[in-house]
Amino acid sequence: MNKLDKLHDQLERIVGPEYVTFELCDRLVYSKDYSIEGFAGNYTPDIVVKPGSTDEVAAIVRIAIELDIPIYTWGGGTSMSGNPLAVQHGIVLDMKRMNRIIEVDPENLTITAEAGSTMAAVQAAAQKHGVFFTHQPESCLSSTIGGALSCMGISIFSAKYGYVYDQALGIEVVLGTGEKLEIGGKSYLSVPSHNLLNLFLGAEGTLGIITKAILKVYPIPQHRDHLSFGFPNITMAMAACKRIHAAGCWPETVYAFDKRSLAQYMERAKTPIPEDVKMAILFGCSGDQDMVNASMKSIAACCTELHGHILPDELTHSWWNSVNINRDTFDQSNFALSHTEYEPDLIDACVPLSKFQEYSDFCDELKAEFGWIDIDFGAFIVASPRGPIPFAIYFSVPIDTRLSAEAEKWFAFKERMYRKALALGGSISDVNGVGLRSAPWIREQLGTAWTFLTRIKSLVDPKNILNRGQRGFDQ
Ligand SMILES: Cc1cc2nc3c(=O)[nH]c(=O)nc-3n(C[C@H](O)[C@H](O)[C@H](O)COP(=O)(O)OP(=O)(O)OC[C@H]3O[C@@H](n4cnc5c(N)ncnc54)[C@H](O)[C@@H]3O)c2cc1C
Repeated sequence: MNKLDKLHDQLERIVGPEYVTFELCDRLVYSKDYSIEGFAGNYTPDIVVKPGSTDEVAAIVRIAIELDIPIYTWGGGTSMSGNPLAVQHGIVLDMKRMNRIIEVDPENLTITAEAGSTMAAVQAAAQKHGVFFTHQPESCLSSTIGGALSCMGISIFSAKYGYVYDQALGIEVVLGTGEKLEIGGKSYLSVPSHNLLNLFLGAEGTLGIITKAILKVYPIPQHRDHLSFGFPNITMAMAACKRIHAAGCWPETVYAFDKRSLAQYMERAKTPIPEDVKMAILFGCSGDQDMVNASMKSIAACCTELHGHILPDELTHSWWNSVNINRDTFDQSNFALSHTEYEPDLIDACVPLSKFQEYSDFCDELKAEFGWIDIDFGAFIVASPRGPIPFAIYFSVPIDTRLSAEAEKWFAFKERMYRKALALGGSISDVNGVGLRSAPWIREQLGTAWTFLTRIKSLVDPKNILNRGQRGFDQ
């Protein structure tokens, strides 16, 4: 019996024959995620397995070690960085069967769910019990808790509540040794001293397979309101955000888009965007009505002080509808409708706050050098747990990378952009994970910390079974 037949046989014993497949048509489904990198290589796994419990996950890891076959953990496959792709083929471990909402505990403000639960399912369960789960990415109908915790996701409510990893109180994780580890619990501070949770959050499946998570939920705010303002440039927009921070306002949504990004988002809605808008910011606040009103008043005063002008309500509402995608709003979402022919790729980087304008100008110069004169790259900046001050910049690039010549050019462009981010003292990736997208520069960014990280990897995954070849970790 060859190695793969042996694997097939053993996996069938662990999960049952209906949850293992060798069929090419089934495997092809897992050969692409949502990244351009996914279209550039052959990432078809040899076998797909769907575990139903943590014990099954652990047993699968032990078989993989015995046969020396890599495992690639798969949540919803919505990644934009190629990080769930089976770069060395082997096993794709699809977590979506592990989708039980184990408990909603409104008294302790926690929800406990298996890692394959979608964000939409977690939100729906929370709402049923009168509480609010704050991580609502635009991919929430398909992306999973395990995927979000592994990619450091942000969402429309991050300015107030933080990243998804800020919501994690505890996790259950299976290491690359097959051992099960439980870290944290329901208490809001249950990780003494060293925060071991953080080792596995944002690790993109390279250090362990998350099987369960205990997450924070919050009381549902009574009211929610939005305003948007136009600014002459990024520098003014950033100054307004700093002013709002100083004023003590804590909005839940802060999205800063340039005109092109707004146009991309609202393509179908045909919402008119005033001519003079170069940079616009959408602010959202929630809470009791008088608190919301006071916050909105303060935000308006700060923006006006920094040469911002209020944008029409129609634009504000259309913008909010386009980013607020959930099961109830999906049909009305302009954004969902605007994705017709092909998905624009993204460059995501963090640079020091004072460098946003310089980085954006560099992007324009490079675009001209590459001959993409007539194509506008949308720039948008999102806020973080650090409050109303945005920290990450994205360029949404509407280039048809299905054409191989364009794709090659695009990869060269991306390299220059990431190198510039590092030269400015920034970081190559923000919330989409490193994956294949920015792996070539991870060592450069981490420097000596890279060696330390590889030592940790060899401790928790000594046979390099987990997501082998991903995120800059070699064979
Ligand atoms: C239209 C669209 C909009 C998006 N909007 C947002 C947004 O607003 N905010 C945002 O943050 N992201 C967004 N994304 C990106 C993407 O949805 C997120 O990165 C998401 O968290 C990935 O989750 P997933 O379940 O699909 O994971 P996958 O794509 O399946 O996997 C992503 C990574 O997580 C690992 N992984 C998955 N499950 C586990 C597990 N249980 N244990 C360990 N590792 C695991 C995988 O191995 C891989 O490395 C968007 C994507 C699309 C396509």
